[in-house]
This record gives sequence, structure tokens and C-alpha cells, in this order.
Amino acid sequence: MKFADLGLSDELLKAVADAGYDEPTPIQAQAIPPVLMMKDIIGIAQTGTGKTASFVLPMIDILAHGRSRARMPRSLILEPTRELAAQVAENFEKYGKNHNLSMALLIGGVSMGDQIKALEKGVDVLIATPGRLMDLFERGRILMSGCELLVIDEADRMLDMGFIPDIEQICSKLPSTRQTMLFSATMPPPIKKLSDQFLNNPKSVEVSRPATANTSIDQSIIHVAPKAKRKLLYGILDNEGVDTAIIFCNRKTEVRDLCQDMRKDGFDAGQIHGDMDQSSRLAELERFKSGEINILCASDVAARGLDIKGVSHVVNYDIPWHPDDYIHRIGRTGRAGATGIAITFVTNRDEEHVDSIEKLTGMKLPVRDSKSVKPEKKQSGKKSSPDKPKSEKPKKPRPDDHADTKKPSSKPSEKSKKPEKQTPIAETTEGQDDDWNGPVPGFLDAKLDR
Ligand code: AMP
Repeated sequence: MKFADLGLSDELLKAVADAGYDEPTPIQAQAIPPVLMMKDIIGIAQTGTGKTASFVLPMIDILAHGRSRARMPRSLILEPTRELAAQVAENFEKYGKNHNLSMALLIGGVSMGDQIKALEKGVDVLIATPGRLMDLFERGRILMSGCELLVIDEADRMLDMGFIPDIEQICSKLPSTRQTMLFSATMPPPIKKLSDQFLNNPKSVEVSRPATANTSIDQSIIHVAPKAKRKLLYGILDNEGVDTAIIFCNRKTEVRDLCQDMRKDGFDAGQIHGDMDQSSRLAELERFKSGEINILCASDVAARGLDIKGVSHVVNYDIPWHPDDYIHRIGRTGRAGATGIAITFVTNRDEEHVDSIEKLTGMKLPVRDSKSVKPEKKQSGKKSSPDKPKSEKPKKPRPDDHADTKKPSSKPSEKSKKPEKQTPIAETTEGQDDDWNGPVPGFLDAKLDR
């Protein structure tokens, strides 16, 4: 299959060729023709599959003719996070460079003034997070009645973040004759309900999950005591050919602390989490993309769907609480044909999460012995003095310790019924787990990333 077979205009074919794409990915081959025929679409696909181009490319051709009017966007793309919205906007600029379409990005964390000005001029494509969109709508700055094309991207993530009521409200404000495309990595019942309610005879297109089908990601888990995680991480970074790595933690404070310690220990590390303002997040991301830093400590909310090329390793410093997040996290490596390595640290309290990941991915995660990781090199080209002691602070939740994703209510009673796992060497030598792992107190509950 060639891009030229999909019915796209010559201008788009040129932009695609300039982007260096030889042939459409499976989701593009399946989705682009029906979208060009103005059909509603349900796309079961996640980031890394080329799904952004599968809706952005046909949208550009559909919108190529026609004029925008003040405050009345002609199309709307909803994204769960600011970073994803910014990334889709980048894609739009790349693919739409031979067209003259106007675009506005409505995301939280940046001033509304410029966004309002852009809306006043009239936009062909509005890319928004639900929170900011609703805010501006309620202030009377946007009219949805001219919006003939709607994309709901990462719908399952929208669900996790509590955005479904906002989306229902937004859908009900758009003309009923619009074309709607919904993309989601999974199809849990609330998303199915949403699509039944707001899509019209949709065509389903599905591509296999990179996590299950993508053999280019070498996945493994390593059992480790919480206190031994830092050493294990440094051993991996020092000895396992890591060019660039994203280290995922479950809590924002853990991201902050880890990044701080790694910098002290001489690593070129940066961080990205939901407590940072938008400009700092984007700046940090830019530093990572440009190679100024090669390690990015990240939380899920901030990192979901980020398209960062050539990440050699993903390390789940904490195993994710949601199995879907596992798929998204490891999808940061092994992208677009490149091979990648995903290593997940598992403590003796994490077995429940391993089970749910294995259930979702349909595969048993290979277990690596922690002893197979060589110890960290004390002078491994790190910038700081090799004699500097590494800090090994025990991490306790503090009142500002907001989780960046909502932890499902844990069931300590059920957990305690589970037989204790055989503790590998790293666990016994590094002492007992003193990390907090109980139910989430109110103050730790997720802050929505609006
Ligand atoms: P996405 O799933 O939309 O986040 O895209 C993942 C990555 O694949 C991005 O870096 C895209 O630039 C890239 N990409 C999208 N379509 C193609 C294609 N047809 N050939 C090669 N790379 C692509």
C-alpha cells in the first residue's frame, strides 16, 4: 500500500514524503479512506502506531476548502493532556505546511489572551484539552455550532482522567451532522457507551497493540527491594548501553527526588510531571529531544503519548498502577521500527500489578535476576565527583505528595492473603520495604491535569 493509493491530495503526499514516510502504517491505511469519505470512525490504536497522521492527514484535505468564522472553529481535536495537544499541533504544522489552514491550541497552564485572540480571528482546526475548552466555552468565547469534524483522541485516557462528562457536554454542543472520530487504546464499557451515544454508524478500525505485537520491545521485570531501586537503576544506566532513557515513577515527588539525586550523582537528567507549569514541561522535553539531557524522569500524566524518537530504554522505576499505563510507557521505546528495551522494577508488594499487566497484554513478562545487572560504575563518565556519596533517602508520602495518576483503591486485605514472593538477593541485602503502599489518602488523590 502506498500513500498515493489512499486518496490524499498532492500537497499532502508531498508533505508526507518530506516527513520521510515511505508507506502508510496499518492504522493510516485503514482509517484514511473512510475518513475522506466522511464516515465516523472508531480507531482502536495507541500512540506509536502513526494514529495522529491517520486523522490529521484526511482532516487537512477535508478542511482545505471553506472558510473559518470568528469564534466558530470548523473542527475540534480533543486531547487529554497539554503535551499531547501540543504534539498534535506540531503534526498539524508538519503535514499542513502546503495548505493555508489556521490552527489554535487551547491548553491549560498558558495565558488565555492569545488563545482568545486566535479564536476571534477564526480557526480551521482547534486542538484542545477538555478543561480549557469548557472554560472558554462557558465564558462565551467559542461557538461550537460550526464544528463539523470532531476527534476524541486517547478516549481511555480521558476516562482515567475524569473527562468523560466534559466530553459528553462538548459532543452535545456540536452539530449532530458532524463527522466524529474516536481513538482509544482500549474499549472499556464507558467508552463504548460514549461511542454508541455520539458516533453515527462508525467504521471500526483496529491495529494490534504495540505492547503485545511489537516484538521490537524487549520487556523484562526485575524483583528488587524499594531501597535497592536506585542502585539497580544506576547499574542499568552504567552497564547496559543506555543512550536515552525515560524513567517512570508513579508519584510526582518521586520524579522530583529521583531527578534531583541523579543530577547530584552526575547524570544528565531532567524531569517532567504534572506539577510543573506548561513552559517548564515543554522546555524540559526540548532538552531531552535535543540531546542536552539523555535521561528523563517522568510521571504518567505528563508523559502519556509523547512522541520522542530513539529512546533506547524505558525503566519503570515504579510499576504502573494501571495496566494501560504500562503499555503507554513502554511504547515510548521501540517506536517506528527501532528496537527498545523496557525494564520494570517489581517489589514484593507489586505482584497484583504484574498480574493485571500480564492479563492485559496476554503475555508473561520475562523475569530477570537483579544479579544479572552489573553494579554501577563509580566513574562512568558521570560529571560529578565519583567519591560523592549517593543519597538513599527513604521516600515517605508528604502532604504535597500528589500522585500523578489516580491509584485504584488498593485492597490490603486481599494483598495480604497472597503468598509472599521468594525474595531475591537484592531485596534481602538492602533491607525491608519501608515504602508506603497503602490506600490513597484524600490528599494524595490525583489532581486532574487541566
Ligand atoms: P503517533 O502514533 O501518531 O504518535 O506516531 C508515532 C511516530 O510515527 C511519529 O514519530 C510519527 O512521525 C511516525 N510516523 C507516522 N506515520 C508514519 C509513517 N507512515 N511512516 C513512518 N513513520 C511514521
